Amino acid sequence: MAPGRPANMAAMANPNQQRQDELKKMVLCASCTGIQRNWRRAPGHAELVQVSSRKAEREGGRTVNVTTYRCDACGTRWEYENDKTDQQRGWSVVGR
Ligand SMILES: [Zn+2]
Repeated sequence: MAPGRPANMAAMANPNQQRQDELKKMVLCASCTGIQRNWRRAPGHAELVQVSSRKAEREGGRTVNVTTYRCDACGTRWEYENDKTDQQRGWSVVGR
């Protein structure tokens, strides 16, 4: 009986590393790339779909509204933090 072919090692090589590379890439569509991050009242774009909204507590007991969006074009998930007292809050990418 002839021995079978060796398993295809290339295809199985280190799946963890592959996954990390994918996470690093985070390819944003053109509209998402254009969003100004961490700037209060910066506009989003038309393909963002609201997923959820929650309240989050910040230093000093302030409560801010955090809204999660998902981009219909590229699948990126965004959060918009509405903090009246902090100009440098706004859009940030949270994953996909
Ligand atoms: Zn996008």
